[in-house]
Amino acid sequence: MDMSDAQGARERLVVIGGDAAGMSAASQARRLRGPDELEIVAFERGHFTSYSACGIPYWVSGDVPDRDRLIARTAGEHRARDIDLRLRTEVTEIDVDRGRVRARDVDSGAESWTSYDKLVIATGARPVRPDLPGMDAPGVHGVQTLDDGQALLDTLARTRGRRAVVVGAGYIGVEMAEAMIKRGYEVTVVNRGKEPMATLDPDMGRLVHRAMEGMGITMVNEAEVTKLLTGDDGHVRAVATERAEYPADVVVLGIGVRPETSLARAAGLPLGDSGGLLTDRSMRVRGHENIWAGGDCVEVLDLVSGQQRHIPLGTHANKHGQIIGANAGGGYATFPGVVGTAVSKVCDLEIARTGLREKDALRVGLRFESVTIESTSRAGYYPNASPMTVKMLAELRTGRLLGVQIVGHEGAGKRVDIAAVALTAGMTVDRMTALDLGYAPPFSPVWDPVQVAARKAATKIRATS
Ligand SMILES: Cc1cc2nc3c(=O)[nH]c(=O)nc-3n(C[C@H](O)[C@H](O)[C@H](O)COP(=O)(O)OP(=O)(O)OC[C@H]3O[C@@H](n4cnc5c(N)ncnc54)[C@H](O)[C@@H]3O)c2cc1C
Repeated sequence: MDMSDAQGARERLVVIGGDAAGMSAASQARRLRGPDELEIVAFERGHFTSYSACGIPYWVSGDVPDRDRLIARTAGEHRARDIDLRLRTEVTEIDVDRGRVRARDVDSGAESWTSYDKLVIATGARPVRPDLPGMDAPGVHGVQTLDDGQALLDTLARTRGRRAVVVGAGYIGVEMAEAMIKRGYEVTVVNRGKEPMATLDPDMGRLVHRAMEGMGITMVNEAEVTKLLTGDDGHVRAVATERAEYPADVVVLGIGVRPETSLARAAGLPLGDSGGLLTDRSMRVRGHENIWAGGDCVEVLDLVSGQQRHIPLGTHANKHGQIIGANAGGGYATFPGVVGTAVSKVCDLEIARTGLREKDALRVGLRFESVTIESTSRAGYYPNASPMTVKMLAELRTGRLLGVQIVGHEGAGKRVDIAAVALTAGMTVDRMTALDLGYAPPFSPVWDPVQVAARKAATKIRATS
């Protein structure tokens, strides 16, 4: 059916992708413009909308008791707000010249065209899946969607063995290692990088490595998976690298994502080096007045390096959605860019980062001093004060903060937000030293660990200037 002619005077906003960015955009546009002015049609190929993929590791671990808690807003709730949400419907083509999209009902295969006045592309990211033997075997699981999480839980319920191999040691890999430990599995993490958490410098990644080994996790670094071996029943039985085989009753993949921009590419929309869509500050696709894009399918401006980067995080996707919805709803909003803040944990170890790593700074020609300090989460004499390591990079001569990485225990991770604010404000480490942060013994030492690092960095910068 061609719905192109079904339009009346009111405008139609079409949204592709029904999760964080897409449904935030749809909801915000609806807040600004009622159904008599703006018709909103949202296509989602999966079973769910507005779900928290971020919560999947904690659902698998059992910390979150059931899937429905991860759904922020159901399809019914969106429909009640006059958003025409079409689940299990995949957009297969964007026809920019005629202002329409072609969609296919995933179950029946039926196809139809829907015209748009305004289009939002929020197709997210696609997990990396190397073309290796055994990759599709039963017992091998990604954790990108709620359906993936459910499939993994089904396997865990069926499988009697207790050996899990996690491939990849980014934040999803380490969070899944924790989930499997909590479920009583023997966990091996196979990682291509020198150390886990490649978003940190290797010296900080080394701390994560040691802590994970202390939790009983077997860490295999600098190892490339060559194939997944299967048993007579076809189920996965081991992960093979060039050097060894690691027995596995279940395999969890956390090896990164790429922007899901195949539709955009086919439609001739502008893509950056990472394959993410390029937008302006109002999240409008460059060169296209009536098309916006946001979330994991776009590149963002890194305010510290000045470069475009692909940083797929829910925190950005939600903000992009708000901005897009405001603009598509007739208002005005812009997204300034990011400083690259992220926080995660593995068991009781908290890991945080913001800004540039050493190699990022070198890549863009920034010269810097780097300092690393040890401190504690509370006053040293207060019960349960736990150790924390803070690494800080500051620009030579100017003393401008460039980046912070923190590895520690309870209370360590969210301290990175101090640095995120300082980075956004373009502060020097000297200025950070004088920040008026809260202090009482149960919360921090009298000098907060981030300020201890800033003070040391400021001293070093002064000595070398
Ligand atoms: C296990 C896990 C843990 C995470 N933890 C964190 C965290 O702690 N903090 C954080 O900030 N981020 C985290 N993230 C990342 C976060 O979930 C994503 O950044 C966020 O979901 C991106 O939102 P999005 O709307 O851009 O894309 P998605 O959430 O990927 O949604 C895109 C949607 O578009 C649909 N779609 C794609 N193509 C089509 C099409 N052609 N037609 C119809 N529908 C289509 C997809 O089915 C999907 O539902 C985590 C992700 C995972 C997988």
